[in-house]
Amino acid sequence: MTRPDAPDRPADTGPGPENPPRPAWAARTLAAQALGHVDPATRAVVAPLHVSTTFVRDADNGYASGFSYARPDNATVRQAEAVLAMLEAAPAAMLFGSGMAAATAVFSALEPGDHVVAPVVMYWGLKRWLGEEAPRRRLDLDFVAMDDLDALRTAMRPGRTKLVWIETPGNPLWTVTDIAAAAGIAHAAGARLAADSTVASPFHTKPLTLGADLVMHSGTKILNGHSDVVAGVLATARADAFWARVGAIRAGGGAILGPFEAYLLMRSLRTLHLRAPAQAAGAIDLALRLRGHPHVARVLYPGLPDDSGHAVAARQMTGGFGAMLSIRTRGGAAAAVATAARVALWKRATSLGGVESLIEHRASVEGPGTPCPPDLLRLSTGIEDPDDLFSDLDAALRAAHAGHA
Ligand code: PLP
Repeated sequence: MTRPDAPDRPADTGPGPENPPRPAWAARTLAAQALGHVDPATRAVVAPLHVSTTFVRDADNGYASGFSYARPDNATVRQAEAVLAMLEAAPAAMLFGSGMAAATAVFSALEPGDHVVAPVVMYWGLKRWLGEEAPRRRLDLDFVAMDDLDALRTAMRPGRTKLVWIETPGNPLWTVTDIAAAAGIAHAAGARLAADSTVASPFHTKPLTLGADLVMHSGTKILNGHSDVVAGVLATARADAFWARVGAIRAGGGAILGPFEAYLLMRSLRTLHLRAPAQAAGAIDLALRLRGHPHVARVLYPGLPDDSGHAVAARQMTGGFGAMLSIRTRGGAAAAVATAARVALWKRATSLGGVESLIEHRASVEGPGTPCPPDLLRLSTGIEDPDDLFSDLDAALRAAHAGHA
């Protein structure tokens, strides 16, 4: 197992005609050059965008190129998948039309009667989908507080539990799950561990190197980072039968990402190693300043030394703790909503991970049954000047408080 603080250098896959001998370049080096791809026809340093939906058969009735139709596969999608696999230290990655399409493909690959354990704190859209779909698919489902490893151990049904799903840090409370420990518990019971690593991104955490079997991302978030693509990613520790089944579900269900979106995502992956640390630096700066704020009761951010998830996060995250934090305002839901109403620079919008900072009253979105407190505002830190971000939020908090005093 790779130590999380090991140098960020993927193993060299060995020399060959397409892969001349080279030093073990760092992930950021390989991502910046999209794995060094040079178009053989034109010598272009940017790979062409393949939009064709169909491909000519060879005279012998075969498809020597490996491409026959664009629903199962696409060359532009493959290129982005290769970069994502490199970033996650995975033998293979798959791109989907959304994060939800990627996540639900994993649950769809399970068999009726399988038992699944998922976190209490997780992306609400997937939690709702699981609540509605698991009974229909005869999946047995338990929600567990994943920061309590004893609770996870107790929930396991050896031989029947086939999947443990974790999300770390978990949206929107940023609960941290110990990936290596959760993998140990899952494997001891004969289950796979899948990690939604959307918030961490491969810049901060590589779950497969910590023992996870699958990693999932909403590529819509920091991987793309420019709020102009909806995409989903899966990467696997092994190209095994389960992975093949997930691939068949993507091909049969038509859930592949479109080539133009794959092209845009590829373009964004080239700068992930610049954006992610800048956004994480902005987030910790805000967390430290907001925690002393008179109208903020609590700041939730795993980068804060007194956060309950900090010790585990410090072990399994490198280069910072991500762009996402939440604040609990003094004055309840009304003060939170009034604060969001008064920002000028922050954008009052859902989603996360983009270069522009977003603020959201999360309980309004998640509705009844959410573990999200009503006084919580979710903050997605972009790349703006942290002084501007803080002063805008500070003014909004003070104006909201004055309005409600
Ligand atoms: N996982 C997390 C942590 C998310 O925040 C989201 C979306 O907000 C998703 C999954 C779903 O991704 P998508 O919106 O790309 O379907």
